[in-house]
Amino acid sequence: MGAVHIGSAWSDPDRLTVVVDAGHGGRDQGTSAGDILEKDVNLDVARLVAKKLKKAGADVILTRDSDTYVGLEERADLANQADADLFVSIHCNYCEEDASVRGLECYYSEDSADGQLLAQQIVDQVETLDQAACRGTRTADYRVLLHTEMPAVLVELGYFSNRSERALLTDGDYQLALAEEIAAGLLQGQ
Ligand SMILES: [Zn+2]
Repeated sequence: MGAVHIGSAWSDPDRLTVVVDAGHGGRDQGTSAGDILEKDVNLDVARLVAKKLKKAGADVILTRDSDTYVGLEERADLANQADADLFVSIHCNYCEEDASVRGLECYYSEDSADGQLLAQQIVDQVETLDQAACRGTRTADYRVLLHTEMPAVLVELGYFSNRSERALLTDGDYQLALAEEIAAGLLQGQ
């Protein structure tokens, strides 16, 4: 299955187009803790972010809307071909060495000032949530950040290796709260 476009006006050039990328999928399950798989949490939250953005009037493209494998280049290509305005990739983290490590991180490509701004907006929004821990913005050479031609960020929602954060990340209310703040961060200044 290919990308799923859930906006209502594909051809409207005035409408903000956001690509929401649920990390991993299919044979690539990402990190895990017991039967909790990263690919599933990523998809849950990506769908909620997409829903919020669409409600706010944006055009949204999901790189996947099912448990399917999509290559990293393919995800970036899709955003470039759609001439998207923003790209956000959703992931979860794991720290083998230290189970006390917790918190959301927002990554951007080092040479992207727009990416940095977007990452900061998302972090500022998430920091308004009492339940959420936030580790701030960081740079990384992730392929989806390097190969996308629009402002792009990758959000690591939190750590499966931390027991309390893992519980939050699989909780529907928390997923919704995070999705709302991520969407709000994306829409700021747009
Ligand atoms: Zn991941």
